[in-house]
Amino acid sequence: MTSRTAPRPLIGVLAVQGAFAEHEEALAAIGGRSRRVRSVADMAGVDGLIIPGGESTTLGRVAGESGLLAEIAARVADGLPVFGTCAGMIMLASDTTGGPQPLIGGMDIVVRRNGYGRQCASFEAPIDVPVIGSPPMIGVFIRAPWVESVGPSVEVLAEHAGRVVAARQGNMLVTAFHPELTDDRRLHRWFLDGIGRDDRRADVTTGGFGVRAQ
Ligand code: GLN
Repeated sequence: MTSRTAPRPLIGVLAVQGAFAEHEEALAAIGGRSRRVRSVADMAGVDGLIIPGGESTTLGRVAGESGLLAEIAARVADGLPVFGTCAGMIMLASDTTGGPQPLIGGMDIVVRRNGYGRQCASFEAPIDVPVIGSPPMIGVFIRAPWVESVGPSVEVLAEHAGRVVAARQGNMLVTAFHPELTDDRRLHRWFLDGIGRDDRRADVTTGGFGVRAQ
């Protein structure tokens, strides 16, 4: 009998700088296909994109110079599913508090880079993420951004110490922490499983759970 399963989605992993190899490993561990994205041409045919942690100013500068940033922004605005972790979250934010820097934008959140300050520049904490069930994930925070505000169309997926640390808006998923640095693959799987689903379209916001007004 021939199998009629749909082809597995191809996930681009932005690989100009930062923790991209760990995301590739996470995807491979759950049977995902991935491709390193370093140029506009690499974006052709990808069904989703991961933007890793690293240094958002470097990511923005390097990807900006080649036109890749504009290409990603256009594809994300067009509904491409995207998962940004840490610096990736910063790249998808509509604004940062620290002055202008090149961003992809699209998500109605404002972030403060390195917001957790010196005392807890890096830490781990259990993070309850209801959409992936229990037990809580181990959130690895490394000079993480903190979320200053979220708009009404943003669905909060997790909080830590009163701050939003995971959120979704239509086709965009972000975490302030690094799920690729543990061997818990539930959030990568949730992202992968969401590709092609109607409720993760760019024009759809679910409302209800976790939505907070600005
Ligand atoms: N502090 C970094 C920035 O501002 C993000 C850190 C990370 O991605 N681990 O871009």
